[in-house]
Order: sequence, then structure tokens, then C-alpha cells
Amino acid sequence: MNADSTKDQVSRRGFLGVSSAALVTAVGVLSAAGAAAQDRSKTDPGPANPPLDAQNPDSAWPPATDSKSLVQNFKYPFSFANKRTYKGGWSREVTVRELPVSKDMAGVNMRLTAGGVRELHWHTADEWAIVLYGSARITAIDRDGKSFVADVKKNDLWYFPSGIPHSIQGLDPDGTEFMLVFDDGDFSESETVLLSDSMAHLPPEVLAKNFGVAEQALKNVPKQELFIFQTAVPGSLEADQQAAAGTLGKSPSDFAFRTMEMPPTKRTKGGEVRIVDSSTFKASTNVAMAMVTVHPGGMRELHWHPNADEWQHYIAGKARMTVVSTGNRARTMDFQAGDVGYVEKTLLHYIENTGDTDLIFLEMFKSGFYQDLSLSEWLAHTPPELVMAHLNIDKATLDAIPRDELVILPR
Ligand code: MN
Ligand code: MN
Repeated sequence: MNADSTKDQVSRRGFLGVSSAALVTAVGVLSAAGAAAQDRSKTDPGPANPPLDAQNPDSAWPPATDSKSLVQNFKYPFSFANKRTYKGGWSREVTVRELPVSKDMAGVNMRLTAGGVRELHWHTADEWAIVLYGSARITAIDRDGKSFVADVKKNDLWYFPSGIPHSIQGLDPDGTEFMLVFDDGDFSESETVLLSDSMAHLPPEVLAKNFGVAEQALKNVPKQELFIFQTAVPGSLEADQQAAAGTLGKSPSDFAFRTMEMPPTKRTKGGEVRIVDSSTFKASTNVAMAMVTVHPGGMRELHWHPNADEWQHYIAGKARMTVVSTGNRARTMDFQAGDVGYVEKTLLHYIENTGDTDLIFLEMFKSGFYQDLSLSEWLAHTPPELVMAHLNIDKATLDAIPRDELVILPR
């Protein structure tokens, strides 16, 4: 970015930062001063939503480098998602129906109170998850029918492959909130196979025969799905693990991963990244994660992913991202905590911290392996004369470009 565009950014942000009342006054003063002398192009006298505009400065007044032909929308805030509420918690989702570009992945955000249960179920997509708050007990069985029961806390992950039945329950003192990511944009949390639902749709005499009990004993089985319900907080983990293991024994598979127990994959002055894929988290066969922290003033460097689309969840702070698309198109959008972002496979992008606190976000991929290419690294490993001829830069400038991928700037 050159000095001019920096100044332009600052004044544009400053302009949007003032209150709507001050804005009206400023516009009034300008017209009084003589409208003929002023360029009125960047005024917006019609109906407006100032708080929303202020959160999206790069949509309201895009940088001059954005193209006028649009890149498909790649942002959807969870704030817009309709919550399904229950006694025991809630869920909301952002799928291809809300964000049409997100064909490869969908996200479900869920809250469970202490004791609140996401009922026993399974689905056709693989489920990757990260705990955002509190702690939970998760249960599953593996492909051999052996049991898995574990407690997870903030930043821990879990992974349940398609067809593997599982449950989640909030623990003391205040339950949990987590983000589920599915390897199918068309996924919906409303279309899972639930235990209660399945039982309600089977003739009672068949159920009785299947379980070898009298029909009368099953008369109180729910007639409708539970989905999320409130019950008591479970007892000790060891007791649950032993009871569930029975004679088969515990599963040798670990469906959970302790993200913070691994050192950052890369750390620079600008921040750090933890990459977790099937090479570190064996169960995560079809989803890879990069958890990125960018300090104020820092930036996730220009890069692209040759192997998969990127689904993003913004956990903290503020950011902007430009996606350079095919056909001479580019678009810049702004993000904050709770937003979903999406970048299609191979498209060039950066994520800049535009706030004054740490920016934390997830890069998610429908792939067993994390893969990216850095623009700087590419240019540094291409014959210099060729690069200089393209960019009209001198040798000193080319030499200053980082030789290696830094991931997060500054180095
Ligand atoms: Mn599930
Ligand atoms: Mn990326």
C-alpha cells in the first residue's frame, strides 16, 4: 500500500467513524459553503443504516482497487441466522442457503446449558467442531462399536465422521458454546438422524421385538424429536467411560484434539497460527484448520489455497479481506466476531487486522491436508528478471520481498 492510499483509508475510516448526527451537520456545512465547489459523489442522502454501514466501510465506500463488476458475496454474519431455541440451549446455522458461495462447507453454532444435551444422532456429512466457550462431554462409538467418551474445553476440537453416532452435553458451571463445521455446504442441522425421531417412526411392536422387551415398557418413548433438551449434569468422566465401554472396551480412536497443547505452527511479530489437519489430528480425515491470531497492525499475508475452498469463522477482533477473483474482478469486505467468510479455491486474498485488539479467526478446509501458497514466496522463487519485467520494480525492491512464507506479517 502506498502513502496516498493509506491516507485515503484513514480519512475514509475517520469519516465513517463519526456519529450520524455529526455527519448530517458536516454535510449541512458543506452545502452552505457552496455545493457547486464540492464533489458530492461520496454522499449518501437517501435512507441508510449508519451502524451497519460503519461495520462495513469497505462495502459502503470500496477501495479504488475493487472492481465495479461484483465478486459474489462472501460474508454472512451469524447475527442474521435464525436461532432454534429449546430448554437446554439453541442452535443456528449458515449454509449454502444463507451464503450461496459456500458450496463446500456449512457452519452450525450451538449453545448448551449445563446439563443441556444435543441428543444422540448422526448425519451424512463429517462433523468438525471447536469449543468456543465452557466445557462439554462428548460421546460416540467407533466403527467397531467401541465407545468414546471425553470432556472438552475451550479451543479443543472434535471430529465425528459421517455415520458415527454421537452426543454433546454442557458441563458445569455454565455449559458450553461451540462451532460445528460440516464438509457439505448443503448440510442442515435440521436434517440429521435423531434417536428420538427414529424411535417415533417405528411400529411399537417392531421396537419391542428389536429390544426384546414388552411393548408396554416403551410406551413413554418420545413421539417427536428432542433435538436439544435439558437434563441433569453428568457425573464423573471415568464412571461414564467405564459404563459405556462395557465388555468391548474403550475405542482406541481419539475423536478429540487439544489445540492449545500443541505449540504454534508458526509465530512472527505479527501473530501466530496453529494448523491442525489429519497429520496431527488423525480422526480429522476430511477437514483441516488453521487458527490464526493477528496482532493490531498485522496482516495474514497474500496467499491462496490450491486444494480447497476456505470457510472462515471470525472469533475476535476486526478485519478486512480482499478476494481477487477471476475475470479482472476483486471485492473487499469487512469482518468481525461472529461473521462467516468464504474464499473459493485458488483465489488470492489477505486478511488485515483493522482493529486495535487481536484478530482471531479460523480458516477451515474440506481437505485432510492444509495447503497454501504465498505470493511473496512465489515471486522470490521465480527468476528475478522475469518478476521485475512484470511489476516494473527494481532489484532492491525485489530483494526486500520475503524469501519464505511468513504467514503473518510483520515478520
Ligand atoms: Mn452432530
Ligand atoms: Mn486463506
